[in-house]
Amino acid sequence: MSSLVDPYSRSITYMRVSVTDRCNLRCVYCMPEEGLSWTPTQDILSYDELLRIIRVAAKRGLQKVRITGGEPLVRKGIVGFVEQVNQIEGINEIALTTNAVFLKEMASDLHKAGLKRLNISLDSLDPKKFSEIVRRDIFDMVWDGIEEAEKVGFEPIKINVVLQQGVNDHEVVDFVNLTRRKPYHVRFIEYMPCANWEMWKKTYRPFQAVVDEVETRFGHLIPVNGANEGNNGPAENFRLPGAPGVLGFIHAVSHDFCDTCNRVRLTADGQIRPCLFSEIAVDFREAIRNGCSDEEIEGLLDQVLYVKPLYHELDVNAEEKMLPTMVNLGG
Ligand code: SAM
Ligand code: SF4
Repeated sequence: MSSLVDPYSRSITYMRVSVTDRCNLRCVYCMPEEGLSWTPTQDILSYDELLRIIRVAAKRGLQKVRITGGEPLVRKGIVGFVEQVNQIEGINEIALTTNAVFLKEMASDLHKAGLKRLNISLDSLDPKKFSEIVRRDIFDMVWDGIEEAEKVGFEPIKINVVLQQGVNDHEVVDFVNLTRRKPYHVRFIEYMPCANWEMWKKTYRPFQAVVDEVETRFGHLIPVNGANEGNNGPAENFRLPGAPGVLGFIHAVSHDFCDTCNRVRLTADGQIRPCLFSEIAVDFREAIRNGCSDEEIEGLLDQVLYVKPLYHELDVNAEEKMLPTMVNLGG
């Protein structure tokens, strides 16, 4: 059986699976304060439908699944879903991205279900600033969730920080220091144009200046061997001398990593989007609900490969490419 290779010779081995577009937070760069009109439940793929797509893709070489949302931990039955993904032959890595609000109560069960990798979004270490960004007074719950995840054995724990100029970029040093205290992998993510163009223009900060700031303060950053390869996509990883944690930069906007892109995104309503910044999508839901065969699902996967754009064009066309939100796409 042929593997999932697109016309530009990129091998698709990684699928980000959004299990819901709902969320219990309202991060300023992701969603309006009043929320969004959520996709009706009947239009969201059932776990069995999601598993079927992943299973067929795994037969064609898919290796890694990231479960995301919206907030994946608000969907009922998520632990059982993780367990079932973990049993799919060929899937050798399952990760989950969460805002950690429910992590304290769920970390242990998720770990037992076979989840080993967690990405936690934490845009500020200052509870007041954090509550302004996520529009909820909830820092302690999130921090407790992170510590619980560490306690039950998640390794590595990755902390995602979307950096915005004038919002949280004064905390760069505090986050770098976190990697000296904890074995966490702190990853600064470039703010991508999403939801609010004016805000993006005002607060987008390209990363070279941040790297320069960190090196001025802490000295030359030591690249982490091998960590900049493979499934890390656009991340560049470093370690401060003697630090247990790792520091990563995800050049989501300023660097072109499209030629090595290995991922696609399955939306909660059953489309596969081959590129975050393209509206091109292949619908799987209708075919599945009309009783299609596994071979037909494979045919749809081939269509995804065929329409995957070579390049995101964000540098020439950012406003037009701007996403209404990330919640259906999982970031
Ligand atoms: N709710 C979960 C969470 O926040 O971790 C998972 C879904 S969220 C859409 C996935 C990731 O996308 C988060 O780390 C979030 O910070 C990031 N994200 C959302 N909007 C973004 C933007 N405009 N630019 C960069 N990252 C963004
Ligand atoms: Fe929710 Fe995650 Fe978006 Fe924040 S980034 S509003 S936690 S989906």
